[in-house]
Amino acid sequence: MKILVVDDSEMTRLILQGRLGQWGYEVINACDGQEAWEILQKKGRPRIALIDWMMPNMNGIELLEKIRQYIKEPYIYTILLTAKKGKEHLLEAMTAGADDFISKPFDPHILKVRLRAGIRITKLQEELIAAREELRIQATHDSLTQLFNRSALVDMITREISRSQRDNSSVGILMIDIDHFKSINDTYGHLVGDQVLIQLAQRMKTCTRQYDAIGRYGGEEFIIILPQCGEQEVLSVAERLRKSICSNAFETTSGPINASISLGATWVTPSEQDCQEEDLIRIADKALYQAKNNGRNCTIIFT
Ligand code: GH3
Ligand code: MG
Ligand code: MG
Repeated sequence: MKILVVDDSEMTRLILQGRLGQWGYEVINACDGQEAWEILQKKGRPRIALIDWMMPNMNGIELLEKIRQYIKEPYIYTILLTAKKGKEHLLEAMTAGADDFISKPFDPHILKVRLRAGIRITKLQEELIAAREELRIQATHDSLTQLFNRSALVDMITREISRSQRDNSSVGILMIDIDHFKSINDTYGHLVGDQVLIQLAQRMKTCTRQYDAIGRYGGEEFIIILPQCGEQEVLSVAERLRKSICSNAFETTSGPINASISLGATWVTPSEQDCQEEDLIRIADKALYQAKNNGRNCTIIFT
């Protein structure tokens, strides 16, 4: 665990470095608030800081105020380590955002246990952030394919339509449905059907760019959002994907299975100001329906 030591006295920094090193911490030194602030801007910054009060350039209180104003996450646990004593100083430090206050000269045992309390808090916050992130992923992703789910897709289409109007670019939508998927389930079972869905998701990822969004719209129906794509680009992605599916069998526990997909495509230009996400989905769905009627394993695009 990294600990940031902010003190203008080289002697204090050396003493702290020795102690903290003995206790197994990695020490990062700063000789004033300004240098500490620069360190805290960087990636992989320490989560715990031991801060002196009186320092040139930027003192401990100013540094604390800056940390609390600008660094929200992950939380920096701060201990003010100062020669100042007395209730009024404690109050001032805590008001500025310190989590703890230790007077110098410090008792190493006290510092050791107070640091442990700080580490407990930072660990708890890490767990909370991870749990929140997990919930966010569960709420926006499909558990089988790990692609975006339907509601996340609809939100993204809305966002991409407004972005395309701002950037004066087009945005394309592909709706994809596996042909005769029911017969794959009926022949090989639902679990093998799931393996096909998972591999289709992977192939869609390899056939698209990093900033295209792929989601599962329903059972065996998928949507791909293609920012900055007009008719030609949408058609070329659709055909690349379609050919990759029908020319390479899906590897399953029941052996290779051949399948094909039908695609309905559409795109919206920035001049179509009143276009809504449901319009795009409806048009792509109609095009998909047409592709099915045309004999499947093909792409139909509608304006
Ligand atoms: P079409 O070519 O007209 O699209 O025919 P289809 O058989 O693919 O279409 P249909 O809509 O009749 O059947 C879709 C099937 O997809 C039925 C349903 O059981 C299956 N399905 C939906 N979700 C899942 C899933 O999560 N896993 C599996 N294995 N099957 C699913
Ligand atoms: Mg189908
Ligand atoms: Mg279907």
